[in-house]
Amino acid sequence: MIPRAFEYVRPDSLSEAIRLLVGGGEEAKLLSGGHSLLPMMKLRLASPGTLIDVSELADLRGITIDGNEVVIGAATTHAELEHHVELNRVLPMFATVGHQIADPTVRNRGTLGGSLAHADPSADWPAAMLALEANLDVVGAKGARSIAADSFFKGLFETALETDEIIVHVRVPVLPGRRVAYRKFRHPASGYAVVGVAVVLALQAGQCTGGRIAVTGLADHAYRANRAEAALEGYTGQLAQTEHLLDLAFHGVTPLEDRFADAEYRIQLGRTMLRRALADAMATDGSH
Ligand SMILES: Cc1cc2nc3c(=O)[nH]c(=O)nc-3n(C[C@H](O)[C@H](O)[C@H](O)COP(=O)(O)OP(=O)(O)OC[C@H]3O[C@@H](n4cnc5c(N)ncnc54)[C@H](O)[C@@H]3O)c2cc1C
Repeated sequence: MIPRAFEYVRPDSLSEAIRLLVGGGEEAKLLSGGHSLLPMMKLRLASPGTLIDVSELADLRGITIDGNEVVIGAATTHAELEHHVELNRVLPMFATVGHQIADPTVRNRGTLGGSLAHADPSADWPAAMLALEANLDVVGAKGARSIAADSFFKGLFETALETDEIIVHVRVPVLPGRRVAYRKFRHPASGYAVVGVAVVLALQAGQCTGGRIAVTGLADHAYRANRAEAALEGYTGQLAQTEHLLDLAFHGVTPLEDRFADAEYRIQLGRTMLRRALADAMATDGSH
């Protein structure tokens, strides 16, 4: 289908982007990689009157690594995250997840900030950002604030962002020695996660001292499996321990159901992806 006619503007600065966003009201929409918004416009599921292209804004570009933290511009593409050598030396989750998103065409245009703002329930980055305990720096008409990934995803395509706010950076703490893994069951056509599980484990002498488990694709938004996380201490990878974690991770969750996967099948996929992610994390030397 053909989208409704729209204005296209490319602001030179973040402040101008905010001014345009506020001025445009309900009609204005940010455009980053366009790989979620443009398909929605073609289907007329979204019909903005003005697109504000932030993909080249300097404030939203670049990856900075200092000792304790990585700061990633929201307009950084999936491919840039996948291939950034220095980033993946300290946070290998980015290569692992980036490589599993769709195909090179999508990875070359789609961005981290666009993916998080869009909050597709089957997107990959939300689970990774939850497991890595990322913070999102956003700026809007009322000023700047930081939102923990934990409080960012609210529901189906719903986030804590106000309509006039722009994600500028994503900040991820660097905690040396963590093991990371991401496993997903790919939708065969789109590549989206029917279910995906991100795991970050702290290990000492082969025994887990804590960690994070985050799930995408299973519920209406990505979530942390808090009860399973609380049981990670002392985990050594034994079968009975693993089964206990799997029971806890999906307890009380209301699974999505669609023509690709009903609730029971999604839970089974979740259990299998978590089992594999835990095994990967216990086996790898890759540190977070
Ligand atoms: C064929 C296909 C396969 C795909 N497969 C996968 C997959 O396997 N896994 C996966 O995770 N994703 C997948 N995607 C989605 C893809 O990763 C998108 O690129 C991503 O979800 C959105 O990023 P974007 O930069 O393209 O955002 P856009 O489409 O430009 O924008 C998406 C939304 O975010 C808003 N937005 C954009 N930037 C900002 C910002 N800085 N601050 C606030 N709001 C902002 C926009 O206004 C819009 O509402 C697929 C897409 C396609 C077309």
